[in-house]
Amino acid sequence: MKMCNKCGVETARNKKGECVNCVKSYNKAYYEANKDNIKSVQKAYRQSPKGKAKRNASRAKRRATKLNANPSWSNEDHIKMWYEQAKHWEWLTGEPYHVDHVVPLQGKNVSGLHVAHNLEVIPARLDLAKSNIHC
Ligand SMILES: [Zn+2]
Repeated sequence: MKMCNKCGVETARNKKGECVNCVKSYNKAYYEANKDNIKSVQKAYRQSPKGKAKRNASRAKRRATKLNANPSWSNEDHIKMWYEQAKHWEWLTGEPYHVDHVVPLQGKNVSGLHVAHNLEVIPARLDLAKSNIHC
């Protein structure tokens, strides 16, 4: 086994011939030196429509998983497209949009699944009105 190019102690792992420990300490030092910059880039992404769509999609996924409504065969890329679509409509109209389950995950008589063909993008005001009716 090849030894690490940096410390010469541990067994090398990555393409540059550096060990896990050296890579870790390099990453840590890089983060510390560029903390403010990294944080502001991450914050800007979280607050961008794409970042928000991603977060909404992952929260919905977690919720669906808890409800046993997230089948292994669901197409995650298609699902994410709905959440991006909602942000796109918000951007176009200036009105908040939600991704709605056509058949609700916790319906009275039937429960829908968190899959792409059970999703639709609707204005938030309609979504909120719907949940008051409990249909
Ligand atoms: Zn090393």
